Amino acid sequence: MWAVRFHQHGGPDVLRYEEAPEPDLAPGDVLVRVRACALNHLDLWARHGLPNVHIPMPHIAGSDIAGEVIGAAATGVPIGRRVMLQPGLSCGRCEPCLSGRDNECPCYEVLGYRNHDGGYAELVKVPAANLIPIPDEIDFVHAAAFPLTFLTAWHMLVTRAGLNRGEDVLVLAAGSGVGQAAIQIASLHGARVFATAGSDEKLQRARELGASEVIHHYEQDIAEEIKRLTNRRGVDVVIEHVGEATWPKSVRSLARGGRLVTCGATTGRRGTLDLAALFSKQLTIHGSYMGTKGELMRVARFFFTGHLKPVIDRTFPLAEAAAAHRRMEESGQFGKIVLEVH
Ligand code: ZN
Repeated sequence: MWAVRFHQHGGPDVLRYEEAPEPDLAPGDVLVRVRACALNHLDLWARHGLPNVHIPMPHIAGSDIAGEVIGAAATGVPIGRRVMLQPGLSCGRCEPCLSGRDNECPCYEVLGYRNHDGGYAELVKVPAANLIPIPDEIDFVHAAAFPLTFLTAWHMLVTRAGLNRGEDVLVLAAGSGVGQAAIQIASLHGARVFATAGSDEKLQRARELGASEVIHHYEQDIAEEIKRLTNRRGVDVVIEHVGEATWPKSVRSLARGGRLVTCGATTGRRGTLDLAALFSKQLTIHGSYMGTKGELMRVARFFFTGHLKPVIDRTFPLAEAAAAHRRMEESGQFGKIVLEVH
């Protein structure tokens, strides 16, 4: 099969479009013909390499996949079924897995990261439990753009923060995958959404997605703007994934009793915290990583009924994965960048 692989860590140039062996199916695995695979920051981390993360080479990245089932040894899955894939892989036998918290499994991994080849290829294998059938009216590009970011944003807002109707939510980086998903999910839950972005065009797009107020994060002070827009009260929930560059402002934007949820640290891992503010304002800091299989099925209902829709920035053919990575690294995108596989 044709695939985009890297044989060493490095810049986008290490991505090679080349022939690769087809995946070997284990019992319970399903073979899927990939039609589309969306990019995530995780793909960039995998390509770059991270300390203490071993990735066997050569490696195929790609966690967000849609396609058609073409081979399913004794799993009962119909051949030809159009599907999107659950990106989370877990053991299915441990206490967290059996309690429905599979993203807390000690063996939890993400498709296309570390030991599992992903969707930058014509074929990918996954356990049958990872298939989510998609309706005919949903195209493969949008289906591939949905799972990881909408699952992540749902877990952050609904499960971790316990968002209530009428609350105020600050979403950082509206143009990012998690940002565009979080604006939509928070709006769906009756929240008032404040969003930040780095250009006027992105701020306008954030408004169109449901943000009531927008903040230019290069030209305005996020915390000061939040204080001004909320009559000095602050917001109930902050959706943080930028990290070091925004952390202090994110904490300062919280109202008394506010919750900050973080799922990433794209700009750096160090964040300071004023402990007096933490206890006196009764703040809560939540870490969040992916979400459960059940949560993805729940949030997918809103996708299939048209209440949530991933924003597509642009598509590239699989062979141009390096150009797609460059676009993501330049941070120019609004929404998801998707590779199409024909
Ligand atoms: Zn487990």
